Amino acid sequence: MALKLPMYLDHAATTPCDPRVVEAMLPYFTKVFGNPGSRNHEFGWAAEEGVDTSRGHVAELLGADPKEIVFTSGSTEGNNLAIKGAAYMYEKAPAGAGKPRGHIVTCAIEHKAVLDPCKRLQKEGFEVTFLEPGPDGIVTAEMVQAALRDDTILVTIMWANNEIGTVNEVPRIGALCHERGAVFHTDATQWAGKMPVDVEKDQVDLLSMSGHKIYGPKGVGALYVRRRKPRVRLQALVDGGGQERGFRSGTLNVTGIVGLGKAAQIARAEMDADAQRLLALRRRLESAVTGKLGSTQVNGHAEKRLPHITNISFGFVEGESLMMAVKEIACSSGSACTSASLEPSYVLKTLGVGDELAHSSLRLSLGRWTTREEVDYAAERIVESVQKLRSLSPLYDMHNEGIDLSKVVWGQH
Ligand SMILES: *Cc1c(COP(=O)(O)O)cnc(C)c1O
Repeated sequence: MALKLPMYLDHAATTPCDPRVVEAMLPYFTKVFGNPGSRNHEFGWAAEEGVDTSRGHVAELLGADPKEIVFTSGSTEGNNLAIKGAAYMYEKAPAGAGKPRGHIVTCAIEHKAVLDPCKRLQKEGFEVTFLEPGPDGIVTAEMVQAALRDDTILVTIMWANNEIGTVNEVPRIGALCHERGAVFHTDATQWAGKMPVDVEKDQVDLLSMSGHKIYGPKGVGALYVRRRKPRVRLQALVDGGGQERGFRSGTLNVTGIVGLGKAAQIARAEMDADAQRLLALRRRLESAVTGKLGSTQVNGHAEKRLPHITNISFGFVEGESLMMAVKEIACSSGSACTSASLEPSYVLKTLGVGDELAHSSLRLSLGRWTTREEVDYAAERIVESVQKLRSLSPLYDMHNEGIDLSKVVWGQH
C-alpha cells in the first residue's frame, strides 16, 4: 500500500478518534440528547445511562469504583482540580495568616498543566519542591522520600513523561506517601489506557487522564478520586449545579463522556497487543536511526519507558533545519506545548541535554495504526536528512577530523 504523507508520528500530542468511538458517540448528539441531570423523564434517564456505562468502563480501566470517577474536560482540568483542590482542602494554615500553608512535592519535568498550578500555589503561600531527575529522566521513590517533610500535604508526580516517555516509580512513591500521610496525585495522561493501572496496587489517590490521548475525543477526561483508605477530599474549583458529587459542576458533556468510555473499553481490551506491537516498532525505529548515524542519543532511560514514545537528539545539525527537512513526518521538537517558542525543551534541559542538542531533538510517538512501512520510511527520511545536513556542517567535518570541539577557542569577528 502506498504511504500517505504527511505521516503522523505525534500520538503523544493527540490521537485520532477510533472509529468505534465515533460510532458509539453519534446517537448521543441527536437521539439521546437529554440532560443526565433531568431526573424526571425518559430523555434524562437515557442520557444518564450512557454516562453510567462510560463511568463503569473508565473505572474498570483503572481498577476503581465507578463512584470514584469524576468527569472533566481533560487532563489540564483534572490536574488543576487535583492539585489546587487538594492543596486548599488540606492546607496547614489559611491564606493571609502569614504562615506557610503547606508543602507540595512535584518534579521539574512535569507537563505545564501540573507545573503551572504548582507555581500558582507557590505564589499563594504554599511551599513547593521541584525534584530534578538525572539524565535517565526517572523520578524515584528515594528522591521523593528525601523531599518529604512533616508538613507535606501533596505529592504530584506524573506516571510517564510526555516528551521522553520515561516511567516514574509510581507504586513505590504511592506507598511512601501513604506511610507519611500525604495525598498522592499522578498525571497519568500518557500511561492510563496504554499500560495497566490498578489504583489499589499502585497506591494512587488521585489520577488524571484524558480522552484525546487514548483514541477518544478532545475536551473530555476523568479524574480518579479515592474514596476509602484514605478518603480524599477536594475543594471544587467550579461551583454550580453540583454535578459529579460537587467536584465539578456543569452539565455533563454526554457525547464526550460516552466517547471516553468507549475509548477506555477498547484500550483495556487491546492494551497488551497494542503495547507489544508498538514496542517492537519503536525499537525498530530507534535502531534504524541510531544504527546508521553516529553522534545521536535516545533521551531518557533505555528500558523504563513507554512502548510508543522515543526522543532522539542529533549532534551536528541545526534544529530548525532538521524540522524543515523532515516536515512530511509530523512529530515534535521538544513538546507540542513548547515548540511554538524557540526555547529548548525544559524537560531535556533538566536532564542535562545541552541547548544545542535539545534544539536538534525529535519526539516521535507511534499509535494504534502506525505501520512497519511508516516506521521504516520515517527512519530512512531522518537518516538521509541528518546525513545531508551534516555534510554541509563545518563542525561535523572538524569532529570527524578528531578535533575536540569543546576545546576550540572560537575567534571574534
Ligand atoms: C496532553 C497532556 C496533558 C494535557 O491534557 P489535556 O487533556 O489536553 O488537557 C497533561 N499532561 C500530560 C502528561 C499530557 O501528555
